[in-house]
Amino acid sequence: MIGIIGGGQLGRMLAMAGHRLGERFRFMDETPDAVAGHVGELVVDSFAQPAKLDAFLSGIDVVSYEFENVPVQLAETVASRAKLLPGVMALRTSQDRLSEKSMFAELGIGTPAFAKVDSLSELHAAVGAIGLPAVLKTRRLGYDGKGQAVLRVASDVDPAWHALQGTSQGLERGEGEEKTSGLTVPLILEKFVEFQAEVSILAARGMNGEIAFYPLTENVHEHGILRISRCPASKRVDGVRFQDRAEQIAEAVLKRLDYVGLLAIELFVVGEELLANEMAPRVHNSGHWTMDGSRTSQFEQHLRAIMGWPLGAPQTVGVCGMVNLIGNCPALSEFARIPGARVHWYGKEPRPGRKVGHLNFVEQTQSDLDAVMAAALHVLR
Ligand code: AMP
Repeated sequence: MIGIIGGGQLGRMLAMAGHRLGERFRFMDETPDAVAGHVGELVVDSFAQPAKLDAFLSGIDVVSYEFENVPVQLAETVASRAKLLPGVMALRTSQDRLSEKSMFAELGIGTPAFAKVDSLSELHAAVGAIGLPAVLKTRRLGYDGKGQAVLRVASDVDPAWHALQGTSQGLERGEGEEKTSGLTVPLILEKFVEFQAEVSILAARGMNGEIAFYPLTENVHEHGILRISRCPASKRVDGVRFQDRAEQIAEAVLKRLDYVGLLAIELFVVGEELLANEMAPRVHNSGHWTMDGSRTSQFEQHLRAIMGWPLGAPQTVGVCGMVNLIGNCPALSEFARIPGARVHWYGKEPRPGRKVGHLNFVEQTQSDLDAVMAAALHVLR
């Protein structure tokens, strides 16, 4: 029996991969309609003040999590009573963009220039040091482009400070609620990077230290939300050229965090360099293509790692693509018409900006993949 903190679509897909291996799942989530509850037991409890940990942990062999904003205190309590993988260190580091980027820098991994910002005067100093354009981000709880503002000209600086101070408390739930406490929201300023492409490296580390790397995935975001992934990356990026460097980056992070499970690192391709943007200590949207396009899906790989099994083969079985379905989408039957489209639907209530499903494609050539991806995007327009 595997316990998962968080009951969203990632938890649901972990369980669907695990069912084939004979595993059973119990989820902990704050909302009774969490979609992983369709495919496993669901314990509805507060993450900040859990009252049902006995019920959640009873009979559980290993606990993992499917989102990185699990309160560290909850993770520590769980880790003191059960095996928690990946461990608390990975969670703590990835929850704060400053500690994440500082770790990358310590490991010799390039990042966009960054500076800690705790006051408006620190922001002005950081803008002076880093220059414009730049991106101002909340250190904690941002996701899908929420909790960040691009500063292009000097007159953007003060309004961005006030905007991020005003709305960050709501980020945890994605609602953008007004902030009520008087505390300053810690921020980070990053240089705006003119990247050629965004890529991610997915890698898993087993309990015995074995590591498996997936080929680099190329990602395209729209309004800060992932829209498309391709693996292998298109010729434009030449992912093969960057594969070794991406593997070195992932290996350094996996070892530093004594990591067990699947890890994703998002990278910018800038000239001949890879710059690390952020990491996710969990299965990741840019690895959804592996469900149909790899010899071992990221979900099975994560489970193999945390169960102490040998890792699976990460190779692709074709030229793979993924298109996210976001918000209100046309009827699924419209996508089912596209030859070879594999529809994955999460059973969530559609809301603007919410990921409700994805399409996977596995083709023999890049041009075949281009054609079916274009057809999918056409249905979405
Ligand atoms: P993040 O939440 O940090 O993953 O940011 C969401 C998206 O915003 C990224 O996938 C990029 O497309 C863009 N972005 C984030 N940081 C930067 C940066 N320093 N320079 C340019 N674009 C960025």
